[in-house]
Amino acid sequence: MNGHVFPPPPPPSLPVLGDSRRYAVARIFCVGRNYAEHAREMGHEVDREAPFYFTKSAVHLLGSGATLAYPPGTADLHHEVELAVALGAAPGTIFGYAAALDMTRRDLQSAAKDKRRPWDTGKDFEGAAVVGEITPATDAGALRGATITLTVNGAMRQSATLDGMVWPVDALIAHLSGLYDLGPGDLILTGTPAGVGPVVPGDRLEGRVDGLAPVRLTIGAPASRG
Ligand code: MN
Repeated sequence: MNGHVFPPPPPPSLPVLGDSRRYAVARIFCVGRNYAEHAREMGHEVDREAPFYFTKSAVHLLGSGATLAYPPGTADLHHEVELAVALGAAPGTIFGYAAALDMTRRDLQSAAKDKRRPWDTGKDFEGAAVVGEITPATDAGALRGATITLTVNGAMRQSATLDGMVWPVDALIAHLSGLYDLGPGDLILTGTPAGVGPVVPGDRLEGRVDGLAPVRLTIGAPASRG
């Protein structure tokens, strides 16, 4: 066998603080309703029996500082700021952390929920996983009580602390490890606090987790689709 029918794209990856090498991303697991106040604003109570997940395609990863063209098929694109955990080589270990944005076509997600259909079109689209530079765990210190915030054009929209998570990082890794063979390249987006809302072209988003590099995103005009 020789080569590929179409040339494969480069593997999705993220920069690593203090390292010239990049972290190749294989899978993106996202946690639903991991902060009680956010679950409530979406009309749900948190499920305390077990966390639940959806996934985003690694090819839909976008680095910090990018412009995301307002995506097609929605009139209600939402921001969700989240702590991202990048897993390491040994089972259950954490390589590092990053600030992330789980961009969501809320109208499509809501319609899917109403019809008990999957969330894919609401959650997994080009540029829907925006992740900042990874800070190695050894440099990140204790994140447990860290503040997580999101501003849009400088105005605060989301502000909480990571200890508001219903399922903390260690519990998420332990639970997800019972469902998948986790390893390096696996990212976990750990859920968003309250305050999610719409963005429009021209908006500048900045997500921050204390101790980590910020994640920045500009919303661009819709791409022309001919
Ligand atoms: Mn989310």
